[in-house]
Amino acid sequence: MAVTGGGSLLPMGDLIRMASHAFHYLAVFDHHTSQALYLGRTKRIASPAQRIVLHARDRGCTRLGCTVPGYWCQVHHLTDWKNGGRTDVDTTTLACGPENRMIETTKWTTHRNTKGRTEWVPPPDLDRGQHRVNGYHHPERYLLPEDDQGP
Ligand SMILES: [Zn+2]
Repeated sequence: MAVTGGGSLLPMGDLIRMASHAFHYLAVFDHHTSQALYLGRTKRIASPAQRIVLHARDRGCTRLGCTVPGYWCQVHHLTDWKNGGRTDVDTTTLACGPENRMIETTKWTTHRNTKGRTEWVPPPDLDRGQHRVNGYHHPERYLLPEDDQGP
């Protein structure tokens, strides 16, 4: 079975038949660490190619517990554009609209950790030591050795 960008399951035969008519993109990851290469640029709005790489890497909203698939997400700057953030695949992530807007008006922050995963850090008064990485869109991580599963 294949999983579409919207989360639907497709038989592999159907996927191959549909893909034969598609435009193909290649996303390259450095040493399998989820660090996407190339495609970086310094405009505010992410390019279609950057969105494809973000979709390949994040698959959906990166905030803990959010199930919104990548099709319905916006590109979120880890460091806000107005504060000097860059529009590179390494400095952006997927976030659903409400949470992308929420971070603008609250003291939540986001950053990429050493495993290349986006962490959403709550303001101190809301920090209960909760997880900061959303694993919902990456169930394969739960098949990894325990040291590689975490944030
Ligand atoms: Zn979300």
